[in-house]
Order: sequence, then C-alpha cells, then structure tokens
Amino acid sequence: MRFSGLRVLKEGLTGNKGWRPHWRDPEPKSDYDIVIIGGGGHGLSTAYYLAREHGLTNVAVLEKGYIGGGNVGRNTTIVRANYFLEGNSQFYSHSLKLWEGLEEDLNYNVMHSQRGLINLFHSDGQRDAFARRGNMMNSQGDDAILLDREGVRKELPYLDFDNPRFPVYGGLFHPRGGTARHDAVAWGYARGADQRGVDLIQNCEVTGIDIENGKVRGVQTTRGAIRAKKVGIVVAGRSGQVAAMAGMRLPIESHILQAFVTEGLKPCIHHVVSFGMGHFYMSQSDKGGLVFGGDLDFYASYAQRGNLPMKEHVMEAGMALMPMIGKAKVLRSWGGIMDMTPDGSPIIDKTGIDGLYIDCGWCYGGFKAVPGSGHCFAHLIAQDRPHAAAEKYRLDRFRTGYGLMDEEGTGPQHNLH
Ligand SMILES: Cc1cc2nc3c(=O)[nH]c(=O)nc-3n(C[C@H](O)[C@H](O)[C@H](O)COP(=O)(O)OP(=O)(O)OC[C@H]3O[C@@H](n4cnc5c(N)ncnc54)[C@H](O)[C@@H]3O)c2cc1C
Repeated sequence: MRFSGLRVLKEGLTGNKGWRPHWRDPEPKSDYDIVIIGGGGHGLSTAYYLAREHGLTNVAVLEKGYIGGGNVGRNTTIVRANYFLEGNSQFYSHSLKLWEGLEEDLNYNVMHSQRGLINLFHSDGQRDAFARRGNMMNSQGDDAILLDREGVRKELPYLDFDNPRFPVYGGLFHPRGGTARHDAVAWGYARGADQRGVDLIQNCEVTGIDIENGKVRGVQTTRGAIRAKKVGIVVAGRSGQVAAMAGMRLPIESHILQAFVTEGLKPCIHHVVSFGMGHFYMSQSDKGGLVFGGDLDFYASYAQRGNLPMKEHVMEAGMALMPMIGKAKVLRSWGGIMDMTPDGSPIIDKTGIDGLYIDCGWCYGGFKAVPGSGHCFAHLIAQDRPHAAAEKYRLDRFRTGYGLMDEEGTGPQHNLH
C-alpha cells in the first residue's frame, strides 16, 4: 500500500474502505538471523536499515508492549544537529541529513517541520559559548546564525526581554532544526521494515539472553525461546536491566523526564525555543497545543510518570521566559525513562559477547537520533565494524576514560547531562 495525494483523494471519495493495516501481526518463528530487542524508534529504524541497506530480512523486532508505547511516543519531538564536540557533531549531522529525506524514503508523512530552533542566551559569557558552538556547527556543514537581541525580538516578540533576572541578550538560530510527529516516525519505520519482511512481534518481553561459550545463541521471551545468530539490545530506559540478562553492568542510570501540553491555541510560536537560564524549551504542535519540557526529575527511577517538584520548576521557567504562557491551561503531562550515560553521549557498540550488540545511552536527545542510530547500528550488526559517523560511541570509553564526550561539561554525573 503506497501513500499519495491521489490515493487520499480516492479513499476520501470511496468511504476510506481501502486502507490496510500498516504492518502484519506475525507469530514469532523459532529462529532468526538477527533479533532486535526493543520496538522503539531506534529498534525499528535498525530493523528497517538492516533490510533496506544490507538486504538482511530474516530479522525480528521483539517489543514487550506495543509499537510507539515507549519514549518514541512520549518525547517533545525536537530534531536538531547543533552539537559542538567532534563525534557528536558528525553523528547528529548524519542523522539530520537522513531526516531530510525520510518522508520520501519511507513513503510516510512523519510531519518533519524544519521551523528553526533558537537557543537563547542571557549573559556575555553565554553569548561567547554560543558563538563558539555556532562556528563549530557551521565549520562542519550544519547551519547556525548568531542573533542579537533585536534579531531575537523580530522572531520571538512574545518573550520577556527585560526580565530583571534573565534579560535576553540574543540567541543562536539553527534554521534546519525543528520537530516531527513522534509516533508517526515509529509507524513509518515499522511499516517500512515490515514491508521488507521483518517480523514485528508485539507483547513479547525478552526475559533472558542465551549465551554459550561467549557467543550469543538467542533469547528467552514471554512467547517462548527464539534462537538468533545476532542480537541487538535497543531498549532505551531499560538498557541496564536487559544488559544484566547477559551479565553486563552498564554505565547507565535511568531517570524520568517529563513533558507537558496545553490546550490548543491559535498559531503563536513558530519555532522551537530553548531558554538559556534553566532547562526549559517549547514549541507549538500542529494541533495548537504548546509542547514544553524541562530537566530530569533528578533521581534514578523506572517509574514512567513525573513528580510535582519538576512540574513546578518547569512552569516557573516558562513564566519567566514568556509570561503570556500563564494564560494557557496545561491539559496533559507524562514521563518517560531516559538512559543517561556519565558523559551525556550515547553508545553504539559490540559487547564482550560474540554476536551481542548494544545501542543505548541516548539521554534525552534520542528522538532526533532515530534515523542516524538505526542506520549506524544496522551497519555495525551487519558488517561487524562501526559506521564512520558513530565510531566515537565506544562502550569502553567509560572504563578507560579515553574518548569521553561531555558535551555539557558537567562532569561524570548522569543526571546533570
Ligand atoms: C518527555 C520526553 C521528552 C523528550 N524530548 C526529546 C526531544 O525533544 N528530542 C529528542 O531528540 N529526544 C527527546 N527525548 C528522548 C527520546 O524520546 C529517547 O531518547 C528515544 O526515544 C529513546 O529511544 P527509543 O525510541 O528506541 O526508545 P523507546 O521508544 O523507549 O523504545 C525502547 C523499547 O524497548 C522496549 N523494551 C524494554 N525492555 C524490553 C524487553 N525486556 N523486551 C522487549 N522489549 C523491551 C520498551 O517497551 C520500548 O518500547 C525525550 C524523551 C522524553 C521522555
């Protein structure tokens, strides 16, 4: 089933009777070449690129819940490539280029909207840091424009520019940054993988990983044992628990991150805006709701819900930046479990067990990484060597201390990145 304008017209005129399910609901087979644990954005994109780029289709994605029920359907949908450090900047640049061709590639509307991202700064020192970041972004092929106060005022006239504590000095504008519809990304990749023969098995929790003589042999699941020559772990906030099934202790802590949506308003915010004096950012969804979020809840947890102190903090930050937000009613808030590394950068690597691979540590920036991560993880699994764009994401950097990528410069504390 292909989507096109003509098709939408035809279905509209004939009672929408011709649409078919986007993917099959197969029974798990007893044996696959490759099993991917986790049907989130990263697991699905990995399966898609395994099939599309490497012709590997005897693949199953095992998801304990339903497709799109994890962080891929819970995030605030920001897509950007505004990183500073070598390694991160190459990877996110690679991912953004994949985003830019994604809808055509998947034949699926993921509502990728490059509406531009503006990171605000509120002091001379912060301006210097953003100028440096912008130079780095431009020098490696991404886009950045340093705006002064009047430049920001032109784009975002509704901000409180003269707030006595946090006056707006200017902003770093990243025009190719923006948003996408989160669950559509999961559905698009799921459909693309399924069309190429990948089995997507929902309600199938992996409960054990079978290893013999240092080599992976398959997995135990709530729907029976499944043999596999290669296994990829891509379970985001559950990375530590699933890796423990293979006897591994990861340098990962799981923390809660919350998001908020208001009632629908007329279009008023045309960019993604990030406050420089606290962790607060917002955009407006196509339905009109203001979508915003803030920092982690600050303690490790597997509870997929948020707590009141961070809600208060996020609302205060929003009011400081943009007092008019106080008139909007918050309709919903929710939490997701973030897999935080000690340097804030991810891991895409082999493990010490032959045939077992891991992709994790996306902290709260893993949505924009969905295409890049799947592309690079599929390359690693298929070819047993890292993709050039992800070659710095080695697991052993946390053991050796060599190659750490602390983008925020906050030191080895998971919840500060
Ligand atoms: C509130 C919030 C806001 C965010 N905002 C942004 C943003 O604006 N931009 C951005 O880039 N990133 C953002 N993120 C981060 C981003 O959502 C995540 O980094 C990314 O989605 C994680 O990868 P995933 O999609 O594969 O995870 P998930 O969708 O969580 O996928 C992992 C899957 O593994 C499954 N699983 C776990 N254990 C097992 C098991 N034993 N067996 C089988 N399956 C298992 C889970 O059920 C889950 O479906 C945000 C996250 C949250 C929560």
